Amino acid sequence: MKKVIFALLLLCLFCCACGKKDNITDDLAKIYQRDKIIVGVRDDAAPFGFRDKDGNLIGYDIDLAKIIAGNILGNENKVEFIPVTASNRIMKLNSGDVDMLIATMSITNQRQQILNFSIPYYIAGQAILVKSSSKAESLSDFEGEKLIIVFGSTSERNLRTNVPEVKLLGYKTYNQAYKALKAGKAQGIVADDTILLGFVVSDKSVRLLPKRYSKEPYAVAFRKDEYSERLMKKVNYIIENLQSTGRLNRLQEKWEIK
Ligand code: GLU
Repeated sequence: MKKVIFALLLLCLFCCACGKKDNITDDLAKIYQRDKIIVGVRDDAAPFGFRDKDGNLIGYDIDLAKIIAGNILGNENKVEFIPVTASNRIMKLNSGDVDMLIATMSITNQRQQILNFSIPYYIAGQAILVKSSSKAESLSDFEGEKLIIVFGSTSERNLRTNVPEVKLLGYKTYNQAYKALKAGKAQGIVADDTILLGFVVSDKSVRLLPKRYSKEPYAVAFRKDEYSERLMKKVNYIIENLQSTGRLNRLQEKWEIK
């Protein structure tokens, strides 16, 4: 009889252990169990997240994701990248498709209501990209004209709120926005300076206006619940360490965004 009770107890313990495994809620524990981090990144925002000629994802955000995987799981390759756009990234995070977003995402008051953010790992600023032949010098020169934005970006929100007299033409990706400018569909693109500079580097027929219209602190985004807290603390610790050792600076030099 004792043996039967003992066997039943063992079975019970085993079932509980298995059940627990499937019901892990803590994001960091889930990553350890999966032995892989899943990160939402841009594939249209050079030099942060974009594709090389073989189609591999590269960039500053991609390197940061690899470093985070290396720190948490001991191997920089234990990361899966899911491309996201400015308009679908919050949905991808909240649906659980990704563990975190490293996707040129600025901290804003509005976003802080629905997401958790790490400490910033880069500061950009909004600027305007025009054709080199354009006479425009600042935002006031575009009254009654059309400007391009990417849906879901801070530029879209800033312009809709602060400059309603400018007509907006929206696209899903920066590559589409750039093609539209080249095709003459509007007079400029408003977006983060560093992303726009990615186009200037390889194309002399476009130029960036000198003025900056905002501060864009890029940070890693997490779901706003208690399950992401340990993961966020870990990521903050990693970013602090990258800052204090100068590695983040070197990474910015590598991608020419310093
Ligand atoms: N940093 C801005 C944002 O978070 C623009 C870049 C982007 O489209 O991701 O909206």
